[in-house]
Amino acid sequence: MRKPMMAGNWKMNNTVAEAVVLTQELSNRYTDAWADRADVVICPPFVDLKPAKTVLEFDKTRIAIGAQDVYWEPKGAFTGEISVPMIKEIGCTYCIVGHSERRELFGETNEDVNRKAKALIAGGLAPIVCVGESLAVRDEGTTNEYVCAQVRAAFAGIDATDAKVCVVAYEPIWAIGTGRTATPEQAEAVCAAIRATLAELYGADVSEAMRVLYGGSMNPGNVEGLMAQPNIDGGLVGGASLDATSFAELVKACL
Ligand code: PEP
Repeated sequence: MRKPMMAGNWKMNNTVAEAVVLTQELSNRYTDAWADRADVVICPPFVDLKPAKTVLEFDKTRIAIGAQDVYWEPKGAFTGEISVPMIKEIGCTYCIVGHSERRELFGETNEDVNRKAKALIAGGLAPIVCVGESLAVRDEGTTNEYVCAQVRAAFAGIDATDAKVCVVAYEPIWAIGTGRTATPEQAEAVCAAIRATLAELYGADVSEAMRVLYGGSMNPGNVEGLMAQPNIDGGLVGGASLDATSFAELVKACL
């Protein structure tokens, strides 16, 4: 019922020349089934967005592009920031917000995430809202409370119609870039709690329509077990999205 999504978060990897090569390698592996049966998204660094989009447009490859972050103001004296109209003009249809690296390394708060999500929705883009707990929170036994509070904060003041276009990515911090994946059961338990929170906020119909992704060392060896879970609708993938063959295998697991 929900269309699966596989989104690659390239993080701070790939110069323009490298991004063009990787996008071309992906485009070469693309078949129409990818777009018909899933939403496939790549999220390169800002400077790579336009070159990546150009490759995809030239090849008529239906892979969407998204940014990894955005600022909530449309323009002005915000040195170093990038706005929603800027990424929209390039052709971005998605944007990651609240990635744990932004929260941990750059001090992004729940309020910032909420402002960014609202700005994206107002501009017609779909936010991919990242949430996830540290190992300390998991060990404390308060994962669901912590993650669901992040969801509530991210969606504060967003109505059901707008929420429906949003995607939530559950990414346990201890599993990101560590090679340590959450078991399918661990990931499913939190994704189910996220969907229950969305149901409280927006009702069952909306929550059943929204995609909840898993992220954290997803790779071709563990994707099947994760995708088999009823509340996991796809992946937000870092390391494995930097190799066209492995990303293509992750996409195939969604079809
Ligand atoms: C991520 O950064 O969103 C991520 C899940 O990274 P990795 O797949 O490398 O753990």
